Amino acid sequence: MSKIIASAVIRGAHKLVKQAEDMLEEVISEKGKDFAFEFPDTAFYLPMVYAMTGFPVKTLGDMRVAVGYAKEMLHPEPDEQLWVPYLGEALDSGMSTLFAEEVILALKYIKGLEPMTDPETGYVYNGFITDTIQRNLGIQLVDGTMPGFAAIIGAAPDDDTAVSIVRELQEKNILTFLSGNVNGNSVTKQLLRKGVELGWDTRIVPLGPDTEHTLYALDWAIRASLIFGGKKPGDFKAHLKYQKDRVFAFAIVLGELNDIIWTTGAGAINMGFPAVADTDVPVIHPTGVCIYEEVDKELDHTKIAQRAIEVRGLKIIVEKPPIPVAYGPAFEGERIRKEDMFIEFGGQRTPAFELVRMREIEEIEDGKVTVIGEGWQEKYEKGGKMPLGIVIDVAGRKMQKDFESVIERKMHHNINEAQGLWHMGQRDINWMRISNNAKKDGITLEHIGHIMTTMTHHRFRSIVDKVQVTIYTDEAEVNRMSEEARRIYKERDHRLGSLTDEAVDTFYSCLLCQSFAPSHVCVISPERLGLCGAYNWLDGKAAYEIDPTGGNQPIQKGQLLDAKFGRYEGVDDYLKKASGGAVESLNLYTIMENPMTSCGCFECIIALVPEANGIMIVQRGHTGMTPAGMKFSTLAGSVGGGTQNPGFMGIGRNFIVSKKFLHGDGGIKRIVWMTKNLKEGLKEEFDKRAAEEGVPDLLDKIADEGVAEDSEKLLEFLSSAGHPALEMEPMI
Ligand code: SF4
Ligand code: ZN
Repeated sequence: MSKIIASAVIRGAHKLVKQAEDMLEEVISEKGKDFAFEFPDTAFYLPMVYAMTGFPVKTLGDMRVAVGYAKEMLHPEPDEQLWVPYLGEALDSGMSTLFAEEVILALKYIKGLEPMTDPETGYVYNGFITDTIQRNLGIQLVDGTMPGFAAIIGAAPDDDTAVSIVRELQEKNILTFLSGNVNGNSVTKQLLRKGVELGWDTRIVPLGPDTEHTLYALDWAIRASLIFGGKKPGDFKAHLKYQKDRVFAFAIVLGELNDIIWTTGAGAINMGFPAVADTDVPVIHPTGVCIYEEVDKELDHTKIAQRAIEVRGLKIIVEKPPIPVAYGPAFEGERIRKEDMFIEFGGQRTPAFELVRMREIEEIEDGKVTVIGEGWQEKYEKGGKMPLGIVIDVAGRKMQKDFESVIERKMHHNINEAQGLWHMGQRDINWMRISNNAKKDGITLEHIGHIMTTMTHHRFRSIVDKVQVTIYTDEAEVNRMSEEARRIYKERDHRLGSLTDEAVDTFYSCLLCQSFAPSHVCVISPERLGLCGAYNWLDGKAAYEIDPTGGNQPIQKGQLLDAKFGRYEGVDDYLKKASGGAVESLNLYTIMENPMTSCGCFECIIALVPEANGIMIVQRGHTGMTPAGMKFSTLAGSVGGGTQNPGFMGIGRNFIVSKKFLHGDGGIKRIVWMTKNLKEGLKEEFDKRAAEEGVPDLLDKIADEGVAEDSEKLLEFLSSAGHPALEMEPMI
């Protein structure tokens, strides 16, 4: 075994820095040094350079500075014998590699070479990962549905091995990035050949065909500490610590290693991400000193995924129902097109509904699944479409009627997580498909019942003691039962409508995002949901019953200190402790003074538009300009990290139509600009609220991106529309 590790790292870094420098000068001679560049949809410039040095690269000229930093960290190329003495320097060189790779990829974007397309298959790689995607995945990162990330570099020895490694990671809910190649072959190509669905929906994301593309995954990781962790750009120690402690990433290197892989790997190790290779890498120095604790080998491909997970110290518990197809959140995003469909239910094609009912313990038999419908097997075997009613009866000592809807909402995930099953909607507007492949694997309606019993027990273990499922397939039966279902939905809605902040003594906190944003606390009241949109008051209440020491804690709201702004003594007391002193006082119903903090996974951002005496709202994913003079990505940069920022706030989408929405600032009449997407999506409820506020046509008076993307045009529109905000008392 030759002694090459540290030297390979340093040599690789030299190569890449040189390449970055040469390429940069070439592009500058063509475009000039003032040519501006940003990666698609990010507020963090070249994120690695920005996080580590605080320097925002905005132009080609700025890239010279970045390359300068990379050079500074470089060490002279060593002779072949150097090992341990170079270890620290090898890690420095790893970081200069990451800077160089970031510059190279940016230049490739400028040259129109990124994201790359695979010439054989026409497959377009993901390229740079946007801030939007990062925020979209925020909750999954914190609530454990996505326990970690793998970067697979290279190619497996054969296609089937590639599929089995990736499937194992998928079943463990790990997000997998693919990059690199071995003599032109790669895991991406191997999966494509096997017809595996790739992309964010299935949690397998091919970044690009070269080792350098691994940088996109690291760029993604480093933004977690900027976005969620509130770490300051330039505070490299804080960033590196955050990465090591909170970002559960690791690499699997398949195939022979070369200088570029070693040096990229050293960069990743610098960030605290270990790697496991499938080749006989020298992990122990002949003198017995461990070279890289973070590099390991596992020659058996059936064990390599598990080995990597262990090396990163991840504990993953997977619950799988007894069904003949794969199961896990990674299969949730999978779509079933018409051609691939064996049978479907609901979706306006057949009558269908789903319902969870609370029962007495002695009324039901645990685990029992019954299908009611004459000759249903024969009808099912024919395929096509079929009526379907699913009733889940649950009982438990700690079960409450309020939890019915919480459990019912999970039916969507329960079904979608099965490979080859697809579900949309809820209640009596649900729609479900089973794929030809799932049918071939033997899935039946009874299995759907088993999924429901297993997963309901699993997800709600301490509130549910017994679960029984009845599936109806006769049209007349489905219609009869859906009448009862509708009556129950109505009762629930009525109850929910009467749930106000005043009507309860207890609010709930959500601390889940503290794993990423340590000082952030969501205070969830009946009329204000968590800012990610995934947790409302009932969810908080149920989650607390399920796990009394978990991320949702009751807050005795205590004495009302300010009704207009929504300030409660108990909430303030709780927050002082739960935020580690970062928040002294909170007003639930205003954006102007001590507003709620934001972690980073908000569905929407509200921002003050002082010129218009109102506020604007933009949702995650909107890439256009806003009248605040900033895009969502930039706005988001000034709201996250668990601090209070008067004038800016992250919120859950449904909060907009709550009676408590900015109650202290004048309510929905303050909305002067809102994207079309929000206007259309919330129309029905918004119009109802607007009528209550005495301005039934408010939605038409609110501007959107169609009429204004700057404050000047906005003001013109507002005055011609006669927007009420112009007449309201000044916000500041
Ligand atoms: Fe994070 Fe708040 Fe959502 Fe909880 S409710 S997951 S703290 S954003
Ligand atoms: Zn969050």
